[in-house]
Amino acid sequence: MNEIELKKIKQKALEDKIPIIMDDTLEVIDKLLEEKEPSKILEIGTAVGYSAICFSKYLTNGGRIDTIEREEDRVLQARDNIKRAEVEDKINIFYGDAVEILPTLNEQYDVVFIDAAKGKYPFFLKEALRMLKSDGMIIADNVLYKGYVMSDYNKHKQRTAVRNLREFLQELQNNPELEVEILEVGDGLAIARKK
Ligand code: SAH
Ligand code: MG
Repeated sequence: MNEIELKKIKQKALEDKIPIIMDDTLEVIDKLLEEKEPSKILEIGTAVGYSAICFSKYLTNGGRIDTIEREEDRVLQARDNIKRAEVEDKINIFYGDAVEILPTLNEQYDVVFIDAAKGKYPFFLKEALRMLKSDGMIIADNVLYKGYVMSDYNKHKQRTAVRNLREFLQELQNNPELEVEILEVGDGLAIARKK
């Protein structure tokens, strides 16, 4: 992987106000992936490919990341970025809505990273669980959504997203097969491991 290109990709994404993964969140995920040594990762929400490129260095030999993005211009930028970072043999982008694409996938993943439309997290969880290996791990970003999820203030316009994030966290925590941690890094990070 080309680290200089990675820095440029990050810089441009920040300039363009693309909501890429935050540094402190990435630090946590780096450690998890280093320990896990995944061969297959599923990412929901590619944006311009920054997180996928970062994760790709933890893949075992021949490993692969499948990542889904619904905005065409982001898919095009992501393809370009992935080439510049020299990891195009490790990352496969699906262009389309994850709500439509996920049900067509039938692979087994070591890690599923959820980082897309907050209102769809309960659906993403269901699909992630269906494709998670028996020792797999689900990581979800933005689960505390600027603190809205844990506050009782309920009048903001993001109400549907908040309701669905709460439902997502409930389902994670009520699932007897999962061991769950919710961290206050970045915008809130949920880590769920199969027991
Ligand atoms: N993981 C990226 C950031 C993703 S930002 C990184 O850290 O570098 C969230 C992205 O998810 C946006 O680009 C948005 O277009 C995409 N997205 C949101 N809902 C989606 C959906 N239902 N299907 C596919 N992509 C979606
Ligand atoms: Mg995010």
